[in-house]
Amino acid sequence: MDISYIINELGETRDQWMGSVSPPLFQSSNFCFPTVEEMRVCLAKEMDAPFYTRGYNPTVGVLRKKLAALEGAEECLVFGSGSAAVGAAVMANLQAGDHVVCVQKPYSWTYKLLKVLLGRFGVESTFIDGRDPEEWRRNCKPNTRLFMMESPNSMTFELQDIPAVVAIAKENGILTVMDNSYSSPLNQRPILMGVDITVHSASKYLSGHSDMVAGVLCCSRDMAVKIFEGEYMTLGGILSPHDAWLMIRGLRTLPLRMERVSVTTPKVVAYLEKHPNVEEVIYPFSPSFPQYELARKQMDRGTGQFSVKLKAQDKASVERFCNSLNRFLMACSWGGHESLIFPVVTLYDSQNYSTSTLPWNFIRFYVGLEEADVLIADLEQALAKM
Ligand SMILES: *Cc1c(COP(=O)(O)O)cnc(C)c1O
Repeated sequence: MDISYIINELGETRDQWMGSVSPPLFQSSNFCFPTVEEMRVCLAKEMDAPFYTRGYNPTVGVLRKKLAALEGAEECLVFGSGSAAVGAAVMANLQAGDHVVCVQKPYSWTYKLLKVLLGRFGVESTFIDGRDPEEWRRNCKPNTRLFMMESPNSMTFELQDIPAVVAIAKENGILTVMDNSYSSPLNQRPILMGVDITVHSASKYLSGHSDMVAGVLCCSRDMAVKIFEGEYMTLGGILSPHDAWLMIRGLRTLPLRMERVSVTTPKVVAYLEKHPNVEEVIYPFSPSFPQYELARKQMDRGTGQFSVKLKAQDKASVERFCNSLNRFLMACSWGGHESLIFPVVTLYDSQNYSTSTLPWNFIRFYVGLEEADVLIADLEQALAKM
């Protein structure tokens, strides 16, 4: 199935919907039946038929089909946030006494889920650098049930050799879950490399316009049924039909957006790598990245996120640089139309996040859909003010 077909045709059933080119928004919590028998039939297939919107909604159904196909998976479930998707994937497959091996610096709330929340329920986790596949094997215990991968990692972008880690998991009967938010399914398809479950924060590239919070989980049909009957229906962290409709709209331009950032970001990165006020740029598709060859092997293209360590005397000069940018907005998240910075110095002297392991001169960047020369000019004037 080609990407254009998935995005424009798959799941649309326009003949049932008066030829509507954009799918109708079924803003309805429940669906009614003329006979008991018809109600009985639908109740028996709540995951795939309109009965109650916590289980299935036709607008959400269109989205699920497209996302599963993009990821190369049999099935997809969508959630009210990426964190809800991570939570469902992990919790559905663990019980008290189990052990998890996870990358050292996953998304911060994934860390909290494993370390604190599941820690309370008797699940133990080991956090590893993860770049060397053998490290995954070395950290296995007899009760290891799950490998939590995120390649590239959040903020510092270390990669895992996906097929190699999957092979070790399969040898030991361990389930693999991978957060694929960084790449989007257009640039990396872990399921096709043997990963059991992929999760996304669809608040990022998949929706693409910084107007919603959403999550995606892709896996086999059997695994999806298990998660549906368990965490999905009981915790109920579903995506609303309206947000599903918006995400379908966002997906129409996903290939264009990913193509754009893969061209503009390397230009911005190349500019920063040569600037005297920049100590280091971390971007998986830069030839200076230590795992550049692995990135090229398992990812199709670079995306818009990279990180920078400024050559700064003090926190004040980092803050001067950040405060001087006009075209990069200062905000969390990424994947929308707008370029962003997330300065780690924000976490310093903060009540909630006082334990950052990253240095204060570290800034995560996201290149949005603006022209590269506009962004470079903005960086130039802000770097001059440091
Ligand atoms: C944002 C993000 C999440 C969490 O997603 P939400 O939609 O914010 O809940 C999980 N993983 C990664 C890598 C992220 O960037």
